[in-house]
Amino acid sequence: MNALLRSLPLMRSCKEAAALMVAREDRALRATERWALRVHLSMCKACPNFEAQLLTMRTAMRQWRHYSEQESEQQSERDGA
Ligand SMILES: [Zn+2]
Repeated sequence: MNALLRSLPLMRSCKEAAALMVAREDRALRATERWALRVHLSMCKACPNFEAQLLTMRTAMRQWRHYSEQESEQQSERDGA
């Protein structure tokens, strides 16, 4: 059973899963890639943390880009901590 699972191309290592999550920032993943990633994230303890960090980073990058592109509208949304 385990050997069978490991032989499937969908089973990814953490390194491959991380590469997919990074690639996802730049391009749309294929359906098989999205599925493989989802399967991995459901079974792995470390990668969901990495994904959360990526999402945080992406949000920060987007805000920074928004800020630099539209300086005059920078105060449209503020969240005081
Ligand atoms: Zn993993």
